[in-house]
Amino acid sequence: MRYLDSLANITHRVRHVQGVDHRLTEIYLLGNTKALARDFMRSLPCVKRVVRVQDAYRVLGRHGQEDFPHEFEYNGVTFNQKSLHVFAGLCAVDTPEHVELMMQALQENGQVCTRMGAYKPRTSPYSFQGHGKDCLPYVFELAGKYGIRIIAMEVTHESHIEEISRALEDTGHPSGVMLQIGTRNTQNFELLKCVGRQDEYPVLIKRGFGITLNESLNAAEYLASEGNPRVIFALRGMKSNLGDPHRNFVDFSHVPVVHRLTRMPVCIDPSHSVGTRQKSPDGLMDVMHVTAQGVIAGANMVLVDFHPKPAKALVDGPQALLLDELPLFLEDVRIAREAYLKRVALFQSG
Ligand code: PEP
Ligand code: MN
Repeated sequence: MRYLDSLANITHRVRHVQGVDHRLTEIYLLGNTKALARDFMRSLPCVKRVVRVQDAYRVLGRHGQEDFPHEFEYNGVTFNQKSLHVFAGLCAVDTPEHVELMMQALQENGQVCTRMGAYKPRTSPYSFQGHGKDCLPYVFELAGKYGIRIIAMEVTHESHIEEISRALEDTGHPSGVMLQIGTRNTQNFELLKCVGRQDEYPVLIKRGFGITLNESLNAAEYLASEGNPRVIFALRGMKSNLGDPHRNFVDFSHVPVVHRLTRMPVCIDPSHSVGTRQKSPDGLMDVMHVTAQGVIAGANMVLVDFHPKPAKALVDGPQALLLDELPLFLEDVRIAREAYLKRVALFQSG
């Protein structure tokens, strides 16, 4: 640091990421970095790696480095491009009874992560907008009761972050929260800056449904550039009639693309991609098929809608899986994951 301070026309920013085994310190040099010799920088004490930043995603990008570790641990759960976690849960919180049935089913199936929507961005202003902060106390308390460590929860305004923090405080922090940026807010830059400036919670950012992949990856970079590199990128299908009869055009072929371009773990959301419980003649629902397609391509997280009584769900009932389908769903994910790991081994040995 003393050496860096002595350089003219170069400033630096330091960022730490806590992994399981070690804490990674990244120092970003800004200014006339062309004047610096890579080998010399590498020879400085404590320097493990020198990377010349080549593309737009300065913090989250891979910059041509094949082995470029980037992982984070949150509330006992580790996320990187090799891990896989399922976040099954309610699209929208409706009643405490449904939240409890959901969380009980998760615990019975060994799950510690879930999704629970409290703030819902809706197409119509007359539709149910989510219970907001009113439901947070019972959602967090029930999470604690059933051993849930992380709840993915969308925020649509910066004030929601404070509401979540206050409710966690009031209930004694029974669970953790992963803030979610929805597809409608992918380019809400002021929201991105607010969510990026806090480092209490990791962030799941959905790909914008009508913009390019590059634009969505830049949106993720907003979070990291503001100071929060604990970002997961979610594919959730693109708005296009070419995807009919699915709700969105499934884009899970981009899982390996995002792995290649960035260091972010990649999530898939089969529910909002497909949007129905339609089954093909083989007996598998399209939701299950596309989940397997994403997992066999290396996805690191699956965000999926379940509901104890889909007919009574206030949001997205038609795409929700039933609680007694959870064991089947998890087994199907396990099969696809095993196939993915075998494929990786096959190509690494060849
Ligand atoms: C959601 O996950 O509840 C949601 C609204 O998703 P999206 O932003 O992808 O539409
Ligand atoms: Mn939804």
